[in-house]
Amino acid sequence: MNHYRRTEREKMVASQLENRGICEPRVLEAFKRVPRHEFVPDHLRGRAYADGPLPLGEGQAISQPYMVAIMTQSAELTPGERILEVGTGSGYQSAILAEMGMEVYTIERKAALSKRAELRLQRLKYPGVRTKVADGTLGWKEEAPFDVILVTAGAPELPVPLLDQLVLGGRLVIPLEEGLSQALYVVTRRRDGFRKHRGERCTFVPLIGEHGWEKDPRS
Ligand code: SAH
Repeated sequence: MNHYRRTEREKMVASQLENRGICEPRVLEAFKRVPRHEFVPDHLRGRAYADGPLPLGEGQAISQPYMVAIMTQSAELTPGERILEVGTGSGYQSAILAEMGMEVYTIERKAALSKRAELRLQRLKYPGVRTKVADGTLGWKEEAPFDVILVTAGAPELPVPLLDQLVLGGRLVIPLEEGLSQALYVVTRRRDGFRKHRGERCTFVPLIGEHGWEKDPRS
């Protein structure tokens, strides 16, 4: 069974990631190792390696593998860096980061999702990932600053507390609303301010909080 899943993962990496330009070897290796089927609801396991997002329950979704990969690659990670993820969801993105040797802190606003992700990460031997239930648009003050902050939900604008919690040279990777769709931005903190780079279009569930949407714009 495990061997079978490994083959599925290798296919996913070749056809969905390498084919579309993901080339960072440590990112590709992490995707081959992390058992994505453990992060999706039982009845969707057969689709765990398919080329799309999957529902997680509570109106939320585990992102498409390619989207997780492009965010991870855009962050230009070095092992040992401290990363804050906003939007734990299933815990899959956290596991990818932990597999790459990062020090991972992850915040989720929905307690039930956070608890499930925490237990799953422990069971799958990623016990180093620190989880918390809170509004992630405020960051994680006690643990700041971070080398990288990854926001895995779509924001109406850049959350100021997250910019404040970046080290010099730190990167914030975040989907920002642009009219009816979103685009992925990488914001780098420099001595003379912040440099903003626009990446590709994307679709994430909304970031809801004090520095995000007031309520779910979909409802
Ligand atoms: N990274 C996840 C996918 C996340 S989906 C994975 O790998 O599975 C986005 C998640 O962000 C949802 O679970 C949603 O509840 C959460 N979220 C939305 N706004 C948030 C906020 N302000 N703080 C923390 N989590 C938030």
